[in-house]
Amino acid sequence: MMLRLNPSEHGWMTALSTNAVMDALDADGGGARFVGGAVRNALLGEKVGDIDIATPLTPDEVIRRLTRAGLGAVPTGIAHGTITAISSGKPFEITTLRRDVSTDGRRATIAFTDRWDEDASRRDFTMNAIYAARDGTLFDPTGGQVDIAERRVRFVGDAATRIREDYLRALRLFRFHAWYGRGPIDATALAAARTEKAGLKTLSGERVQKELFRLLQAPDPIPTLQTMESAGILAEILPQPLSIARLSAIRTLLAARGRHPIPAVSLMAMLPNEEAARRASTDLRLSNADRDRLMHIAKRDDGIEASLSQQAARHLIYRLGAARFEDELLLEASETPHDSRWDVLLSEAENWKAPKFPLDGRDAMDAGASEGPAIGRSLKAVEEWWAAENFAPTRPALLRKLKEFLAAGGA
Ligand code: ATP
Ligand code: MG
Repeated sequence: MMLRLNPSEHGWMTALSTNAVMDALDADGGGARFVGGAVRNALLGEKVGDIDIATPLTPDEVIRRLTRAGLGAVPTGIAHGTITAISSGKPFEITTLRRDVSTDGRRATIAFTDRWDEDASRRDFTMNAIYAARDGTLFDPTGGQVDIAERRVRFVGDAATRIREDYLRALRLFRFHAWYGRGPIDATALAAARTEKAGLKTLSGERVQKELFRLLQAPDPIPTLQTMESAGILAEILPQPLSIARLSAIRTLLAARGRHPIPAVSLMAMLPNEEAARRASTDLRLSNADRDRLMHIAKRDDGIEASLSQQAARHLIYRLGAARFEDELLLEASETPHDSRWDVLLSEAENWKAPKFPLDGRDAMDAGASEGPAIGRSLKAVEEWWAAENFAPTRPALLRKLKEFLAAGGA
């Protein structure tokens, strides 16, 4: 196997921000190696995101060294050994080598260690347990490079045991497979995930949401979702019955436009109804923004249909905003994805710039509206007229309309 990553081919290894952190940690034989997603993705030829670093230095020593080097040191998870360094504004997760003392399926009690192989054996997958020194020398105690070459997500150690230690790993299995796997999912891992699936119910909603959303953001999550569905995994974390076909239809519609759905929309696409949307929002502790978005889509009461005229579509886009219009449209369209009129409506949502209503409260007061509610009511009436006229009337015409409205005692 490769034995080395060539730092000159991987800009993140030699960036000034990275060097500052590694200089601080590695001085006087401190010891620090890259690990996790950065090393995995570099070996896979995939984009490298956040950088994780492992070190035998204790968290206190890590903080001392970072501070002495003038870098930011945030104790983001100091109890389990993680300090976030901030270097040129960029975060680096630095974690002291650890071994598990005990586990309960949700969180582990750990002890620090100075042994790299112990640290590797508590990591989840072989492809996530490869360490790279600054010069690119690899330390790969679990044989991760072979699995990377074959794009196989394999547990470090016995799959069922590792899942029982932390049930989230059963979801991470599918997430990493969707992103980086090729061919069918590792049979041993899948069998273990199926056997242990009931444990997923014990996880916090936040952790499940995070994994599920990252899975939904994979380039093509559909085959993996189908595997999870037939193994009964999704039923443990989402209300039933799910429709993966509907999500697939939406993905196809958007893919033709070079786009993909955001996780909340993907999730809603699979759910059967409003009640399920409400349950999933609660169970997964969705953010308020995501919950609102889900519930809007679930209600779908704005009359979006394939036969909408351009004018009617623009009214709706103006009233709902392009994002919400699209959300509802996509769900509607998933029932009849071959109707080419959906594409025309999607183009409208993408390209039409909703105009800004040219009048405001001052105009209403100048026109004689006196108290607060009258201002709002008269503006609203004129705005509706303006929209019905296809947003064509300009400011002078709108001011005339406003005066007419007020004169007629409309406010
Ligand atoms: P990415 O950042 O691209 O999502 P990653 O592999 O870096 O992928 P992180 O969640 O950042 O994922 O975790 C960093 C590393 O920590 C992992 O590569 C893995 O070695 C280890 N790890 C994370 N979560 C777990 C877990 N639940 N069980 C065991 N090891 C874990
Ligand atoms: Mg990471």
